[in-house]
Amino acid sequence: MSLGGAGLPENPTFICIASSEVECPGETGNSHLNRAIVHLLCRYDHSLLKRAMKAVSQSSKEKDEKSRKSRMRIFNEEAGSVRHVGNCLIAPILIFLALVCFAGYVDASNPRILRIEQGEGFAETEDSIVFVGNEPFVMMRSLAAGFGGNLTWIEPTKESVFTTDRVVAVFKAGHQSAHINGQAVELSAPPELSTGRMAISINDLDLIGLKASVDYEAGVITVSYQRSSVSSASWSVEDGRVTIAVEADYGFEYSDFVLVQPDRVVVDIHDSVLSPSFETCDISYGAVECVRAAMNRPGVVRVVVDLRAPLGYTVSLEPGPPARLTISFNVRISEMLIDPGINIPRLTVRGDGPISCSALAKDENGFWHADICGATIAEGLADITEEIGAVDWVKASQLDVGTARIEFGLKEGYSPILHPREADLSQLVFDIALTVLGIETYDEPGCTVTKITTSGPVEFKSFRLPGPERVGIDLPGVWAGGYGSLPVRSTGVQQVRFAQFTADTGRVVLDLSPQAARWAHSVEIFADKMGVIVRVGSSPIYGRTVMLDPGHGGSDPGTVHGDIYEKDINLDIALRTRDLLLEAGAVVQMTREDDSTVRPADRPAMANEAKPDVFLSIHCNSVLNVFPCGTETYYYNMVSYSQELATQVHSCLLKEIMLVDRKVRRKDYYVLRVTEVPAVLVEVGYLSNEEENGKLCQPEFRQKAAQGLVNGISAYFDSDIFTEWWQEAKSR
Ligand SMILES: [Zn+2]
Repeated sequence: MSLGGAGLPENPTFICIASSEVECPGETGNSHLNRAIVHLLCRYDHSLLKRAMKAVSQSSKEKDEKSRKSRMRIFNEEAGSVRHVGNCLIAPILIFLALVCFAGYVDASNPRILRIEQGEGFAETEDSIVFVGNEPFVMMRSLAAGFGGNLTWIEPTKESVFTTDRVVAVFKAGHQSAHINGQAVELSAPPELSTGRMAISINDLDLIGLKASVDYEAGVITVSYQRSSVSSASWSVEDGRVTIAVEADYGFEYSDFVLVQPDRVVVDIHDSVLSPSFETCDISYGAVECVRAAMNRPGVVRVVVDLRAPLGYTVSLEPGPPARLTISFNVRISEMLIDPGINIPRLTVRGDGPISCSALAKDENGFWHADICGATIAEGLADITEEIGAVDWVKASQLDVGTARIEFGLKEGYSPILHPREADLSQLVFDIALTVLGIETYDEPGCTVTKITTSGPVEFKSFRLPGPERVGIDLPGVWAGGYGSLPVRSTGVQQVRFAQFTADTGRVVLDLSPQAARWAHSVEIFADKMGVIVRVGSSPIYGRTVMLDPGHGGSDPGTVHGDIYEKDINLDIALRTRDLLLEAGAVVQMTREDDSTVRPADRPAMANEAKPDVFLSIHCNSVLNVFPCGTETYYYNMVSYSQELATQVHSCLLKEIMLVDRKVRRKDYYVLRVTEVPAVLVEVGYLSNEEENGKLCQPEFRQKAAQGLVNGISAYFDSDIFTEWWQEAKSR
């Protein structure tokens, strides 16, 4: 609506007078101005004053859109009044003068509508603009809402933190300096807090990546992102990966996607312009050819990376300023090779540049996989489908754009073991091996047991080494890892160590305790083959082989006294001896276990066949004379060993049964001469002597005799001379 020939401004002038009066009570300049105009008007028309006052008081109560409209109406009425007043000659001149004089204060219109433009859309708000002097300030709260950011008030410091995906800015009311993206910056004016909400000058919006334009005609302030100027692209190769950096002066939104035929990666940079200084960048490295850019549509710069082959990439943005968009291309996985090895197949995965394994895990179906970050499987890379040792197959696939996955189909219990990276960083090496799942050591009667549990069926080779005494178990196909040790509390074993002996063989070493140094050990595989069990004797008898030869038998009764047959006494003592030896962990062989006939020639033959550690023949003596009594022990062959065995057995037996000592003697008995292992024949006592006959008929006595024999055998096994024989026997 025009005020006609008077050339007066349109209604909004009046709206601003009133609204400034009401909404900026602290702004004395404006209120004085308003009062001056009202005063001028009222001197000439009291009814106009009344209506203006009414309008002012009315607008002071306005809160919502409805009241704003009513205010508009009221002031339209006021304008109408002015036109009526126009009939009076002086009034329009005064109004004109007043408005011209105070044009510097009262702008043509003070915009009230804040329009926030983002991408294709916009939003308009009111009550988001305040004036300091005649400088528009914009509410931070409205900017945060409009640009999808946040505004946080920090009461103790009276600061507002403004955050969008491009900027973090800290403003303090009344302070002309602010912190924007971590840097102190000087504002054109201190932020305003007079309305209880923080507002900043539109002149400072560029500091937070925004720009403002003021349309006084429409009464609108439009705020949008700064159009970022995309100025340059550069490239580098880091860790074998091509990285492209695109620079612009401000942060921006972007979208990236892939186009094919030919392969290329596209990044659209929104709210941007392309600087004339931007130059196409030839790269020609690996599959990456060049990077170029052009205006795709108004406000959108399109950056295109031309590729020779499909290649994964990641994009990241540092908002700056200056902003830096980084496109990192993957390394291509170009080769998979498998070396069958001896026991452990080895898979080598090769890339065009350095690669590393970011995850090695087993899925719920029991398949292992290795993930390689920043890698793309080259087109045409063949899977391994033939069975090679423990490997059934190996497949390579793209898990997502940035991650390549190698999947393993392996025999049960096998897993891929990643080698430590060596000089050549462009390859990953996996050993396909069994692993040691656990090692435990505990005491059992007669021995210390060490159980080594493996992830799959194993074979083993064991050995024993002196100084210090130790037992080694080599496990082909097992990956034991670098090195480890496990102190244990047991009679026979002090410490268990494990290490990778060769690339194909894991080794477990048992360090024996000093007292176990001479004692035997045994190694067996588990029934299910999923590990080995090592037993180390906790007595000298453990693991030793003893052949017991109860004299006579069957059709040969030996000496006979009434209903007492020597063959029965011999067998009973032998069986009791056998049981004690078995308890102590010995391996016991018998020339007879019942009343069967064994020919004299068969007894040494059995010993020579089985090759026990010792051979012990058990007899009782008899002569026509009733007086001779006592214990005799004979040896003949392998003098040094047999004599020691005879001496130990004889003295231990005497200690138990307390008969007369008839000494250790060397005598050419057939069974002693022909036997090729240390051999002894014991005449426990005289059946022809009435007293000893009575004792030999008592089970308690025979039990003592058996204990004596076992003690003697044990003492022999614990002697230096036996150790010497053992070493010699082992080397045979
Ligand atoms: Zn006999």
